[in-house]
Amino acid sequence: MGTCPKVSQTAQTNQEARMKIITVVGARPQFIKAAAVSRAFRNYPDIQELIVHTGQHFDHNMSDVFFKEMDIPHPHYNLQVQGLSHAAMTGQMMEKLEAVLEKEKPDAVMVYGDTNSTLAGALTAKKMHIKVIHVEAGLRSHNMRMPEEVNRILTDRISDILFVPTQHAMDILKQEGFENFDCKIFLSGDVMEDSAIHYAKKAAAESTILQQLGLQQNKYCLATIHRQENTDEPGRLLNIIEALNEINNHMPVVLPLHPRTRKKLKTLHIEPAFAIIDPVGYLDMMQLLQHTRLVITDSGGLQKESFFFSKFCIILREQSEWVELLEYGYNFLASSEKEKIVGTFHILADRKFEKQHNFYGGGTASEYIAGTLHQLQLK
Ligand code: UDP
Repeated sequence: MGTCPKVSQTAQTNQEARMKIITVVGARPQFIKAAAVSRAFRNYPDIQELIVHTGQHFDHNMSDVFFKEMDIPHPHYNLQVQGLSHAAMTGQMMEKLEAVLEKEKPDAVMVYGDTNSTLAGALTAKKMHIKVIHVEAGLRSHNMRMPEEVNRILTDRISDILFVPTQHAMDILKQEGFENFDCKIFLSGDVMEDSAIHYAKKAAAESTILQQLGLQQNKYCLATIHRQENTDEPGRLLNIIEALNEINNHMPVVLPLHPRTRKKLKTLHIEPAFAIIDPVGYLDMMQLLQHTRLVITDSGGLQKESFFFSKFCIILREQSEWVELLEYGYNFLASSEKEKIVGTFHILADRKFEKQHNFYGGGTASEYIAGTLHQLQLK
């Protein structure tokens, strides 16, 4: 656990006049989302942000690289909770977070998305009567077997301030009766779009990933697999790998592999025929996205990032939270069915992507969030 920087008496008084927000992050997509909002906070001297890293993702290329590349302030605390079952992980995070919140006495705790770190942060703060802010609220897959679905529903319900990324997410909260709850809901847009826009040029200038991997622009498929429903069911995982093997016969497939999936492939003795690489940093990912022919993934974030960069996306799941992308024919559900994945690839491989919508705010979400919190003055 880190220690707080020492401050002089005058500085202390000034600090007390500021709104203190503790941001709880722990997983890769949260670093990417928090990077955008943290940057926007720097425009508001009356907001003091402290970052707590739960430790959920801890490998260099799943954590440190994002803090470095995206200029996220170094976490004030690292709880180092990792590699445990859902219950043990959430419980340990809560216990350690309670101690941090006791000491820091923030005005609010800010959480992102749908991981165990999100739920642990929200639940701990709520029980201590500290305001909870949820960024990326209102998303639903309607599949309660997904740990993420449980985390996001519970977090939404106990949040005081909810920032929703899309009109669809806003409609969901209305349908669920949130207008009758004691909370404030704002349509902010999606902070991931802010990060994608902010770093795309830097990625183009600095990343050498295409040369390193010998990939030609627009002549490869970018894939990721990490969702528990795919990694924990050997039949599903095998089908997906076979589909990607088949696609690789037509166009090279590159898969930056999540540590969980790597472990499973090893245990099951599955050896893919296509290029498997370690997880990449954000800049390399943005570069891979900008030049891929299409994306094949079970990631939530990549479904949107594909759209940001005008790429079709084949989703390795039964449902998606980003329904607007399905509705307007940008993304396609293929589950783990080999024929469907390969068939959809063949349909999309030569189709022209024509972007006709702006669902996610166009890169202004984090400024909106920081500005709103500044106005609300949560003291
Ligand atoms: N990502 C990355 N490197 C990788 C794989 C993913 O930078 O090797 C980024 C990706 O671009 C997106 C985020 O991580 O911004 C998505 O995280 P993940 O798929 O782990 O989580 P999800 O979005 O499904 O919650």
